[in-house]
Amino acid sequence: MEIYREFECFSCGYKWRVPFGTGRVFTCPKCSSLKIRRTNPGPPKGRGGWRWRLRGRRR
Ligand SMILES: [Zn+2]
Repeated sequence: MEIYREFECFSCGYKWRVPFGTGRVFTCPKCSSLKIRRTNPGPPKGRGGWRWRLRGRRR
């Protein structure tokens, strides 16, 4: 099983994945925007271990 993190860019709508353990990602690789967020649903067994909620606006 491969673990990866998925991100989405608010500016251009680009989505991409990053293998777990490659460090943090804060910018969009396409447009270098800082407006990104994680869309990875996390492990199937609940999301307690993932802190993927963003402050302020949530979908
Ligand atoms: Zn972008």
